[in-house]
Amino acid sequence: MSSGASLLGGEAVVTAGVYVHVPFCLTRCGYCDFNAYAGLDELKPRYLRALLGEIALSAPAWSDVEVGSVFLGGGTPTTMTPGDLGSLLAELRRAFDIATDAEITTEANPDTVDEASLSGLLAAGYTRLSMGAQSFDPAVLRALERVHTPDSVRQAFEAARSARYANVNLDLIYGADGETLESWERSIAETIALAPEHVSAYALTIEPATALGRAVARGDVRAPDPDVQADMFQLACSMLGDGGYGHYEISNWAKPGYECRHNLGYWRRQPYLGLGAGAHSYRDDRRWWNVRPPEEYLATVERCELPIGGSETLDAADAYLEEIFLRLRILEGVPSSWIDDERAEPYLESGLLTEDDGSLVPTERGMLLLNELVLGLTARE
Ligand code: SF4
Repeated sequence: MSSGASLLGGEAVVTAGVYVHVPFCLTRCGYCDFNAYAGLDELKPRYLRALLGEIALSAPAWSDVEVGSVFLGGGTPTTMTPGDLGSLLAELRRAFDIATDAEITTEANPDTVDEASLSGLLAAGYTRLSMGAQSFDPAVLRALERVHTPDSVRQAFEAARSARYANVNLDLIYGADGETLESWERSIAETIALAPEHVSAYALTIEPATALGRAVARGDVRAPDPDVQADMFQLACSMLGDGGYGHYEISNWAKPGYECRHNLGYWRRQPYLGLGAGAHSYRDDRRWWNVRPPEEYLATVERCELPIGGSETLDAADAYLEEIFLRLRILEGVPSSWIDDERAEPYLESGLLTEDDGSLVPTERGMLLLNELVLGLTARE
């Protein structure tokens, strides 16, 4: 848990994040294993009412925290109207102590926004926009079964700037079937040319229970080649670094001062409350999660019950492992004093780790082998 000095007389104030899950999408992308659904539009009014109900049910237990960030994710939150998303944020502000300078983000799909809707979202208080671009290569977008085109990303980005958005993230995915290093290079170059404040670039992973996972299992589609993805990762590190983006988490780069505070909260193990179907929460080494199917979520909240589907408490050993993993992931590194010299030495010698100002920090190669690094640094005798 993280705390900060109180302005009201010395007591520590806990800073938390609030995540709101919106499960609606225009279509279902073949690679997606998120809790997201196409064709459930008729549930939207009930879903908004249920979110407002869940806010009322959960807020009392969080009255002692200051909310430093709000993040609407999905799914595609912008399949709901700016008016509905504005009502949601107004209710969050009424129920929680949201800091005046809180970072407030909504994810957006390029095909669901225009200048008018983005102006509405900005006026409602969503001051940060995270847009799923994924690629600027039409063939890669088709391989990912994304319905938008590179042009719709460019138009949505320009609409965001016209609406006066000054804090925009573009999400990219690399390693789809047929994507070459040259195509990926063009996607990064186009991204840098648009000059968003933040870029996320994720290696495509194949989840067995998705349409893409089944296509790979049948042999219809090739699985990503880890060596090509490693080259793509290193190309992203080099081009985004040259473009003025600081690499602050394995998959995230930002112009100075634009690091995503909400996601940093997750990685720094600060508490967060998740609202909506399948949303996860964390506080004091306890994790819990809401029921995942939207209908079950709605029915539970409509009975005025918290829609909790399960929970777990981390023991000290698990909490330590998680701390090491997350510190390496956000490139803050692990204090050298936490790790025996003989454990760290092989990784320093092989160039997977480097020592920086008393901390062990993964190199680019080390980031590609993070699980191996964490296991090697923490293995019990
Ligand atoms: S838009 Fe995003 S959340 Fe929706 S189906 Fe596609 S990848 Fe999943």
